[in-house]
Amino acid sequence: MNTPTDLPLSQLKQYWGYDSFRPLQREAIDCALQKRDSVVVLPTGGGKSLCYQIPALCTDKVAVVVSPLISLMKDQVDSLVANGINAASINSSMSDHDKANVADQIPSGKLQLLYLAPERLVLSTTIRFLQDVGVAFFAIDEAHCISSWGHDFRPEYRQLSSLKENFPQTSVHAFTATATEQVRADIAKQLNLTAPEMLVGSFDRDNLLYRVHRRSDALTQLREVVDRFPKQSGIVYCISRKEVENVSATLNHNGYRSLPYHAGLSSFARSKNQDDFINERTDIVVATVAFGMGIDKSNVRYVVHMGMPKSIEAYQQESGRAGRDGLQSECTLLFSGSDFMVWKKMTDASQPAAKELLEAMYGYCNRSLCRHRMLVEYFGQSLKKKNCGACDVCLGELNTVPEPQIVAQKIISCVHRVDQRFGANHVALVLTGSSVKRILELRHNQLSTYGLLSEHSKTTVVDWIQQLIGQEFLAQTGDYNVLTITPSGRQVLKGEIIPELYQTAPPATKTSSARDDWAGVDDGLFNRLRELRRTTAEEKRIPPFVIFHDASLREMARQRPSTVAAFGTIPGVGERKRGDYGEAFVARIVEYCTESKISMDQTTQRPPVQKTSRPKAKLLNDAKLKAFHFFETNKPLSEVAEQIGRAKSTVTTYLTDYIREQKIVDPTRWLASADVEKIRAAVQQVGNIESISPMKRLLGDDITYDQIRIVVECIRAETS
Ligand code: ADP
Ligand code: ZN
Repeated sequence: MNTPTDLPLSQLKQYWGYDSFRPLQREAIDCALQKRDSVVVLPTGGGKSLCYQIPALCTDKVAVVVSPLISLMKDQVDSLVANGINAASINSSMSDHDKANVADQIPSGKLQLLYLAPERLVLSTTIRFLQDVGVAFFAIDEAHCISSWGHDFRPEYRQLSSLKENFPQTSVHAFTATATEQVRADIAKQLNLTAPEMLVGSFDRDNLLYRVHRRSDALTQLREVVDRFPKQSGIVYCISRKEVENVSATLNHNGYRSLPYHAGLSSFARSKNQDDFINERTDIVVATVAFGMGIDKSNVRYVVHMGMPKSIEAYQQESGRAGRDGLQSECTLLFSGSDFMVWKKMTDASQPAAKELLEAMYGYCNRSLCRHRMLVEYFGQSLKKKNCGACDVCLGELNTVPEPQIVAQKIISCVHRVDQRFGANHVALVLTGSSVKRILELRHNQLSTYGLLSEHSKTTVVDWIQQLIGQEFLAQTGDYNVLTITPSGRQVLKGEIIPELYQTAPPATKTSSARDDWAGVDDGLFNRLRELRRTTAEEKRIPPFVIFHDASLREMARQRPSTVAAFGTIPGVGERKRGDYGEAFVARIVEYCTESKISMDQTTQRPPVQKTSRPKAKLLNDAKLKAFHFFETNKPLSEVAEQIGRAKSTVTTYLTDYIREQKIVDPTRWLASADVEKIRAAVQQVGNIESISPMKRLLGDDITYDQIRIVVECIRAETS
């Protein structure tokens, strides 16, 4: 080690073919090199494995990695070996002969990484053996398994608490993607770590596009997502086994390639289906939550939830299986108020925490705040960006209900009129003016709120009630889920707060996030290279992503290197892979480019997103785009609303986005100057541009909330 500071970096290049470290990787590597205990928390796909694999190459003793599942160990060992690194695991699926072979390579320092299950590591024979030969350090993967606060507690992990006693001089490094503070502290405590360095990365997965849709026609909604990713890998989560079977069968009936996965299948069928997914013999797995642990397939392009998961933790885990390779991927959640009730029934009453988790999840579904923001804030972090550009809310895909305040007030006053003694269904019947027997018997047809929303269907009104529950303006209590009004619900009645209400089924959208991972990539070549990767993987009996990640294949199809030397500069192509696969891949690239007469050896610089073949404008949804066009021409808002077929409140939301983006300071383009003057005076008087309700109170009925919002946005543009 003559230049210790550069060694990790040169190894990153030599073995992995990457040029720079991701956030916190370097710090984590330094902890292992300097033998300081550490807890490293990085999201899925953050690059945790390199944090212990690189330091393992920098010492002459073996590094021991603890991993909970054989499949995880196998993938990691395969990937390391494919990069020319000497790694192995000892596990229960191996013969004694094979185990001895691995053990024989340890004393000489030939084996650089040894993967073990926790129960094997704590055997006294293993401990004695490792004490004799000496261990560089221990890396504990999926370390949250040691904590009973975590979502995947494994009793066998608890035995690791004796590690420090048996190896007092050896540092221990814990790795997890689980973000809660409590679990983090518990990991350090359970492992008896000495003043551990806590390295906590950002939880925002900025390559994932999140959407939440109210479930209407679930299969059509599902197909809309799947059709955006033809022949690519995706996971579909369902709440029940029966639903898994149905959805998978329907997909196959419609020509898709899917396989089911749930705990009711034989273990043979489960592992076969999982294997087919990993090796790309099927595109889609339809599964219950039983599926996922131990899958580190990196090119899952989408995860769809057909129902609401029971906690945000679970959602983060499951949706997080998309886009481990850092490429753009989508997470779509379909939900309805009934999911909440299903989980509530299944939730153990003795576990108040479970109810809280469920409510937080329901809030996530019902609130229209940036999804990225809600997720990171849930885990105690903040998001710097104002507009993430990668969620349905920030992309302006949600369609608001016109006059949400009035609709909400009608609903809440009806709850009040029925003395807070009835459930959502009954309240909706009253509001829609139903004349079913029970309504008449109770004389609820004589209430002042009877029939106030008769132009809407009962389902729509129930859905709005659910949205109000999700935003905590109403609560459901008791065995019969009686609706009650919360303190903030009362503020809605007084006009102090305006809730957000959304149309039940948002229109089909084909938008994508502001990133464009396909820029400059030749699709045809990418598919050819994928096929070559699949057949090579089959021959070698390793998963395709062990050969190359999709990110590397796309870079190949973008740069189209014509020589093995140029091939070696592609990120993800280390020295070993250049030697093993360079010729075959370059031959395929040259063949394809000659055939289709396209140029090779493009610059290594990725074209900036703005200059791509896909115009940026196309990334906005169509309605919003049209609206922006009309705003340019100063068309009155009511006309814009009519032209684009959206409610006026939605158009106002688009307009405020437009004002923000274009930094427009003059609201008189859309409002009368006299009104603007009045609003400006009210803003001055209130003294805080964030407090719209007090302004509205000052201005009275002549001025609408929408008008205030427009002026406020212009004032913001002036001052920003
Ligand atoms: P985690 O275990 O945190 O989920 P992995 O260790 O599996 O993440 O890494 C995720 C992906 O990121 C892998 O494809 C890996 O090769 C890639 N990766 C890791 N570190 C880097 C880096 N410094 N530069 C580029 N890609 C990286
Ligand atoms: Zn967002």
